[in-house]
Amino acid sequence: MGEFELIDRFFLRPGRPAAEGVALGVGDDCALLAPTPGQQLAISSDMLLEGRHFLPTVDPDSLGHKALAVNLSDLAACGARPLAFTLALALPAADEAWLAAFSRGLFALADAHGCTLAGGDTTRGPLAICITVFGEVPTGQALLRSGARPGDDIWVSGTLGDARLALEALRGGLALPPAMLASVRERMDRPVPRLALGQALRGIASAAIDVSDGLLGDLGHLLRRSGAGATLDTVAAQALLAARRLPDAAALPDAATQLEYVLAGGDDYELAFTAPADRRGDVEAAAATCATPVTRIGRVDTEPGVRLVGDGARADRPYRSFDHFG
Ligand code: ADP
Ligand code: MG
Repeated sequence: MGEFELIDRFFLRPGRPAAEGVALGVGDDCALLAPTPGQQLAISSDMLLEGRHFLPTVDPDSLGHKALAVNLSDLAACGARPLAFTLALALPAADEAWLAAFSRGLFALADAHGCTLAGGDTTRGPLAICITVFGEVPTGQALLRSGARPGDDIWVSGTLGDARLALEALRGGLALPPAMLASVRERMDRPVPRLALGQALRGIASAAIDVSDGLLGDLGHLLRRSGAGATLDTVAAQALLAARRLPDAAALPDAATQLEYVLAGGDDYELAFTAPADRRGDVEAAAATCATPVTRIGRVDTEPGVRLVGDGARADRPYRSFDHFG
């Protein structure tokens, strides 16, 4: 199978109705996007390399899902609606079974969010996936990192730390009961981009970011861009580990380790956002509309840095977030 047959078979999808926002898709030198008048384009890229961002044992269907999910998560954090994406793929070989499963996982998520594959590049090389997503957001309404103000509440969506728990177990660092491992592995392999929540928070949240490298690190980026600091409640934070609600919760590592996974785990793809305290009811209503749980875990303050309060805060733990060059 040559390069062009590969693209035709696995990435060209003839006979599909013209997609909203995409005037011309795969097949020409460029794709042509046609965003709705009055909207800005929101663009983000994420690269996934084998051994660095995913384990060689991941199944290709989940990898297709995750490669797009991590990109859609950035659109969610801006409050943008997905339109299209490009896919640059380096493959060691044209393995048909692998390509069929990868494209199945990729397109299932793309179709669920009306996001059209509009172009890409395909080359031979060590397995690497680079996706660029294009979304749209009404002019001036994108959620930015820079809008948090002292006194705002700090919220997070969903649950945190379970992907890290899965990674530690798969690396052999700790033993988990099979049902628990399956549940947390799902969190690591198939993150859910919080697109509906991001859009529902436009006009309510003062700032937002998606948690990809660990809550403290990513929230730190948001706070620095906002010129502020924060106080976080470790009791509320600790409860965010979903595995604590499973029947086998007694098998989990100690409380300090659980807190470390929540605060600095990585690979969560939840939203961390701030909103004025008088908008609590609006935040809860927005979350209810899109059936996405949200938890209030702290407050923005003027003093830079993040202070942890409540049981379980361990000053002797550095809670380092993920940094490729750190
Ligand atoms: P060019 O040489 O002009 O860069 P290519 O020959 O690489 O174009 O690609 C031909 C067409 O196939 C282009 O429209 C390109 O966007 C598309 N394409 C290539 N690889 C992929 C891919 N992995 N997924 C989607 N579209 C792709
Ligand atoms: Mg090319």
